Amino acid sequence: MASIHNLVKRLQSYLDDDQIAEVVRAYDFAEKSHEGQYRRTGDPYITHPLAVANILTDMHMDYESLMAALLHDVLEDCGVGKERLAELFGNEVAELVDGVSKIAQIKFESKAEQQAENLRKMMLAMTRDIRVILVKLADRLHNMRTLHIMPAAKRRRIALETLEIYAPIANRLGMYNVRVEYEDLGFYAMYPMRAQRIANAVKGARGHRKEMLNTMKASIEYCLEQEGIEARVIGREKHLYSIYAKMKEQKKSFSDIMDVYGFRIVVDRVDTCYRVLGAVHNYFTPIPGRFKDYVAIPKANGYQSLHSTLKARSGIPLEVQIRTEEMDAMANNGIAAHWLYKADDEPGSPTHTRAQAWMGRLMEMQQKAGNSIEFIENVKVDLFPDEVYIFTPKGLIKEMPVGASAVDFAYAVHTKVGNNCVAARIDGKLMPLSTTLENGQTVRIITAPNAAPNPAWLNFVVTGKARTNIRHFLKTQRREESVGLGERLLEKALSSYSMGINDLPLERVVSELGANGYLSVDDLLEDIGLGNRLAPLVARKLVGESGERQHAEERKPMAILGTEGLLVAYAKCCRPLPGDFVIGHLSAGRGIVVHRDNCKNMLTELKNNPEKCIALGWAENVSQEFSAALRLELMNRKGVLATLATNLSESGSNIETIDMAEKEAALTVINVTISVRDRVHLARIMRRLRNLENVVRLQRL
Ligand code: MN
Repeated sequence: MASIHNLVKRLQSYLDDDQIAEVVRAYDFAEKSHEGQYRRTGDPYITHPLAVANILTDMHMDYESLMAALLHDVLEDCGVGKERLAELFGNEVAELVDGVSKIAQIKFESKAEQQAENLRKMMLAMTRDIRVILVKLADRLHNMRTLHIMPAAKRRRIALETLEIYAPIANRLGMYNVRVEYEDLGFYAMYPMRAQRIANAVKGARGHRKEMLNTMKASIEYCLEQEGIEARVIGREKHLYSIYAKMKEQKKSFSDIMDVYGFRIVVDRVDTCYRVLGAVHNYFTPIPGRFKDYVAIPKANGYQSLHSTLKARSGIPLEVQIRTEEMDAMANNGIAAHWLYKADDEPGSPTHTRAQAWMGRLMEMQQKAGNSIEFIENVKVDLFPDEVYIFTPKGLIKEMPVGASAVDFAYAVHTKVGNNCVAARIDGKLMPLSTTLENGQTVRIITAPNAAPNPAWLNFVVTGKARTNIRHFLKTQRREESVGLGERLLEKALSSYSMGINDLPLERVVSELGANGYLSVDDLLEDIGLGNRLAPLVARKLVGESGERQHAEERKPMAILGTEGLLVAYAKCCRPLPGDFVIGHLSAGRGIVVHRDNCKNMLTELKNNPEKCIALGWAENVSQEFSAALRLELMNRKGVLATLATNLSESGSNIETIDMAEKEAALTVINVTISVRDRVHLARIMRRLRNLENVVRLQRL
């Protein structure tokens, strides 16, 4: 069984003593933390992290990755906190361990293909440091190697997940060896019968195959020798799962697949690859259309080799892959080959830069080859995410751009959900709709049948779908509201002539419409509602000179309901409440702004532009919440703000904003805005606050 001593011995080949000491320190801590815990196999738990570290050592991973591997289960299983890990082993290691633990929290279930792709993306996107993925892949590899010990149902679930999620990730990162092992172990666990049958067939064919392989290997070696080329020639066995996949996808028979013999020819330099190609094409007969130059044009995951299929004298097809040692390492270990080759990099260089360098190299290769850079785009998205992946309550995944809010998500689910949303439950917690979503969160949107989009949402939504739908809704809404408001304003203005809209002489109405290019009465009303035309002036024109104006006293103020949304706004300068005397101010294009009648701004406006001012009253059943601003002078005592907050909430109010205006030794002056229902409610609150011991002075602003 592996031990820390063996690991240390292996590490001595590429790490320095200080780094090895760190790895040992991590091991000691992990061993202590996992003390008394056992694997299902009966082995002490520490054997698992140790095995993971050994897998990473095969790839020559850096010491921090190894430390993270040894510690990767202590957050989850031993109740050690991330902060504690950071204290003991530094931030870098703590972040790695945390990243690995986070991936473990993503729930994978059997999902449709699209879903699997999204899960893979999500896993990569959640990771800022590619080493997290490598540790996780190694962790999974060891778990797959010990899978037989699991109960059948769990075994199948883990195997399926490995085939659907982990093997494609290993493939994308070019890690052939890991992928092959995942696939074969996963295949065995998922389809034991089929795997066994293929394994038996391979075994049955092996005796004969081995002989053939040796003969052919010898003839390739002979051919290269003739040309004076030095190379390693390796006979290739296909792995079980790839035989199975080929049989299934390409509908080939087992013997079709087994009758092909594969060889890998590994040489020192790139130009030698082409010389080898020339030599074997000369010696054997190449099959037309089967030559591929992945050296000049690498595969999407960075794989490089020359491929060709030849016919031996016996007529048996022979596949060759020709590559350099470095290409071979890349083909087997993919992104991990970077550590294998560059383990002596300047230490401490941030891994992010390393991963970028890796991609930079790929990019360069692809550009040189003039090939599409689609893969690079894909990997870039994965490693440096512009996207977040959000779960619906049912476990579906929605892909959203970074910065997307709960409102964007609501519209992504359905336009109706967006239009009616009122709040969001994010990972079970009630959050405002403006909350920016993060990778992996589960979001439930709460809707109400009569809820409507809020213009303020336009300030934070990022998706086109949300933006377009909100705008569209508001436009329609605005038209309806302004027509309605215009109608009321005009009726009110006409009432001073003892007339209503329906009493107007038709020819006057028609000529008024025509003169202004309106297509309908609604257009006229909309313009009035928006404040572009003034109702009294329009009324006078419509009534004609004959109309008789009545006394102002008889005119009733127009009632406002409080909830009129777009075209009725409440002035921030004086914050009117139901019960206050109010005046409306019409401003072009914006509808009515409601002020208190003693507001300074209104007094000037009444003097300068009386035609833009309109008497208003409150409707009887206003049910909205309003804001009121208060100025408080408080004694500087402990807990005074808490008492204030408690009293407010006990009075059915909430603090919306709070500002400290001044602070002296004994006194603090604060400005608060609180939510209230009306003037009476506010009066009750103010009475209560005045009675508090530490409130020296209190006034409404
Ligand atoms: Mn583990």
